[in-house]
Amino acid sequence: MKQNLSVQIVFPSYELPKEYLTVIGQIDHTIITESTTPTLSSKNSIYVHSGLTNLPQFDFLKDLNVVIRCKFSEIIHGGHLIASVFPFVRRLNIVMTDIEVINGEDLDGYNNTLNSLSDVILKEYVRGHFVQTNLLTDRFMLDEMNNCNAGIETITLAPDGKFYICPAFYFDSGDYGLGDSCFNVGDLENGLHIPNIRLYDLEHAPLCRICDAYQCKRCVWLNRKTTYEVNTPSHEQCVITHIERNASRSLLKRIQEKTTLLPNKVIKEINYLDPFDIKPNY
Ligand code: SF4
Repeated sequence: MKQNLSVQIVFPSYELPKEYLTVIGQIDHTIITESTTPTLSSKNSIYVHSGLTNLPQFDFLKDLNVVIRCKFSEIIHGGHLIASVFPFVRRLNIVMTDIEVINGEDLDGYNNTLNSLSDVILKEYVRGHFVQTNLLTDRFMLDEMNNCNAGIETITLAPDGKFYICPAFYFDSGDYGLGDSCFNVGDLENGLHIPNIRLYDLEHAPLCRICDAYQCKRCVWLNRKTTYEVNTPSHEQCVITHIERNASRSLLKRIQEKTTLLPNKVIKEINYLDPFDIKPNY
């Protein structure tokens, strides 16, 4: 709090003792909690739903942010389930949990799913319900990069009393052959020490800084896992993100044709799915 950081607290799936809630309630905070957690009606809550089962029955609250975590294949085969949620929520973030294992074959399926979801979103926009989703609407609302920025804008304090760049690093026990199975970047006693902190910055990410997939999470944990470098993305991350970018471009054009919204917004046509293919020679 002394460093003017906002606090996000990941709640367990069970109810916390009242004493905990009293202490937590004394500071500005955001609660991140499973969708099955006993009711928390705070507007600052973010509800996380695992998988696509029970979605239509799930009692979404319109003013809250909802996150669905699921596998890539679930998105491809369960697009209709995701689509059924849009009419009822203000914002739906969809987080893929296995982006690093996708293969080229699935990409057409992903594109088709995004187009089906676009049909539903377009209907919602036409009826005046401006639902947001990270996969399709964020890109056409943005004019510059809006990434996760873990390590630069956020830091995680884990239950072991240590700091991590983000919760993914805390839960990650793999050492990827590099011998550093421990990803903590300090602790409460000794403070925060992030080695090479500038590498988390957009300016020091050579591919990302020439990219216009502004909605990309630019996940540094995924970068670390797939390329061993926090500032270098995998081909998969870039391709998936560019399929979303291009689907967003199509949806934007359809919204402009059917409504008076976003009349001056333009997303230019590009002919690549990975900025690595157009990178300058350094
Ligand atoms: S699509 Fe690739 S290059 Fe572009 S911001 Fe995302 S990770 Fe970086």
